[in-house]
Amino acid sequence: MEVRLKKEVLGVNFDDLTREEAAQAGAALLAEDKFHYVVTPNPEFILAAEKDREFLQVLNGADLALADGIGVVYSAKIQGTPLKGRVTGIAFAEDMLSCLNERGGRLYLLGAKPGVAEEAGRRILERYPSITLCGAQDGYFKDEEAVLLKVAAARPDLLFVCLGAPKQELWMVKHGPASGARLMVGLGGSLDVFAGIVERAPEGFQRLGLEWLFRLMKEPSRIGRMSKLPLVLVDALAARNLDRLCTTVQISDTGLVPGSGVGNHRMALNRESLGVPVISMGVPTVVEAATLARDLLGDREAEPEALRGQGQRLFVTPDSIDAKIRDLAKLIGYGLNLALHPGLRVEDLTALLE
Ligand code: UDP
Repeated sequence: MEVRLKKEVLGVNFDDLTREEAAQAGAALLAEDKFHYVVTPNPEFILAAEKDREFLQVLNGADLALADGIGVVYSAKIQGTPLKGRVTGIAFAEDMLSCLNERGGRLYLLGAKPGVAEEAGRRILERYPSITLCGAQDGYFKDEEAVLLKVAAARPDLLFVCLGAPKQELWMVKHGPASGARLMVGLGGSLDVFAGIVERAPEGFQRLGLEWLFRLMKEPSRIGRMSKLPLVLVDALAARNLDRLCTTVQISDTGLVPGSGVGNHRMALNRESLGVPVISMGVPTVVEAATLARDLLGDREAEPEALRGQGQRLFVTPDSIDAKIRDLAKLIGYGLNLALHPGLRVEDLTALLE
């Protein structure tokens, strides 16, 4: 088996591959006569894995871990270990279907609400007619053993496990080896997309890495879940070099405690006392702080040593945030504000992005 070096982003190991390389690696796994599993972590996974050791181990034990989300790519960049790019779960799934179609292999779909896997299967077969759909099962089952027996009896080559994280990853590791399947891929809500229940983000959103924004606009109830995601970027910033996170920005009025580090950034982002909705504070707060710092410092290089010990400070080095990150962060803040705007329609935003 080929050994690839992984890149760590905030504790989670990723394969540094382009979409084409990921498809080749997946095809190689599918050709081997033993069990493999693929994970597609996004920033939500990273935050969850920080608190859940078992989940982290399962992610890091995967044969392939693909960066499913622009947040992962930017976090990797910020902390100084850039990845080649994003490989979304859906894109990888399409590539695996195409590979399975060429071999005339067997596919099993597991997950989503009753009826969704069957509909996803029907639509997949329309496009990949040489695939045999050997089973489809919803993701709200009680008896795990019974499902495993059904899967094993169906003898799939490829199995999409779409139970949401971390359930799908834990299921793959626990039952994968006994299932007889060669390749399992944890794919979250992808069956809803394949079944046509959830719309895929239009091209313009995809190109800009804004699938998350499209999804938020379609499902505004996800706002609570998504509001934490910019924290990943802040963590990455902190991970890059805690000592350099230092500047003269005074935000003590807001009740920020002195010191530097992830803890304070998190506290800053979560402070209701900032008087602004937390959702639009995230990274833009740090970015604004950085911009302010640059103004204060003029052209001078930030001098961490000289600036230490000045009391109530939020420590951010403007130079540690490059222009692209700043743009992204603005986009996130801007995007979320737009998404929350009651009058805005997805069509309008699509038109803006095209
Ligand atoms: N799901 C499931 N069983 C469960 C919980 C969730 O099959 O016990 C399905 C759910 O119906 C959805 C998918 O898992 O189709 C995960 O959706 P989510 O939006 O959480 O995942 P994401 O796409 O964000 O990874």
